[in-house]
Amino acid sequence: MPEPRLLIDQELRAGAEIALDEPQARHVGTVLRLGVGDHLRPFNARDGEWRARVTVREKRGMRVVLDSLLREAKLSPDLDLLFAPVKRHATDLIVEKATELGVRRIRPVITLRTIAETVRVDRLESIAREAAEQTERFDAPEIFEAAPLARALDRWDAARPLIFADESGEAAPIGEALSWTAGAPAGMPRPSTANAEPSSNKDAGEGAGGPRKLALLIGPEGGFTPEERRMLRTMEFVIPVSLGPRILRAETAAIAALSVIQSVWGDWRGA
Ligand code: SAM
Repeated sequence: MPEPRLLIDQELRAGAEIALDEPQARHVGTVLRLGVGDHLRPFNARDGEWRARVTVREKRGMRVVLDSLLREAKLSPDLDLLFAPVKRHATDLIVEKATELGVRRIRPVITLRTIAETVRVDRLESIAREAAEQTERFDAPEIFEAAPLARALDRWDAARPLIFADESGEAAPIGEALSWTAGAPAGMPRPSTANAEPSSNKDAGEGAGGPRKLALLIGPEGGFTPEERRMLRTMEFVIPVSLGPRILRAETAAIAALSVIQSVWGDWRGA
């Protein structure tokens, strides 16, 4: 059983002794049942992943000492997920799976047919942290407060094409639409943003002349309204795509679309 991982925001460096905060101490002591002398792997996106051992376990808390660097940090691709919150369990699933699939930011958006008006960011953050620890990534995705769709798109960074999962069926298949990010000619007009400035992540869109950053938009259970569809299709950075001939649940659509994006554009290529 690999030593457990723990996302720790404090600075991680050789020899440092770190006092775990209360939730971390509870997680390590009670959930993971680690005691003095046991090992774990603290990590974060700045300092990488370290081997550490528990040095103090007491009522008031726990302390760990860092021994050696195990892995340099590596950022997930510069990929945002915009999704309309659905029922709580399905929203939790979307956040957990999007974390495993390597998104960097999660932006809940409120559309005309969205059932939830807000999301519990703190709840979603802890789901994302836990998924980040399990999935061996170095960072947990940033979770934003829910915002109306129009506001989320206002002053959009045109260097970040938005892959719009459009259930109407009037769109190119996602694999074909994305193929221009891998340098192959595609039926889709290459968005004028295709030569965007590189993001910090060199893997995504590497050597393909494609965008270095992307976003995906998934609608609510009730789908997008014709007006929303029209609004989205007027935006130059929006790329409508189809996810096949069947109507998928929002959570299925998010997982399926992110999987295609990571395999055609993201860090599943040459993983
Ligand atoms: N109520 C809608 C309908 O019956 O057409 C279905 C909405 S679906 C449950 C939720 C979201 O998943 C959609 O808004 C869309 O973003 C995405 N989605 C589901 N199936 C899709 C498909 N075949 N192609 C593109 N997007 C799809």
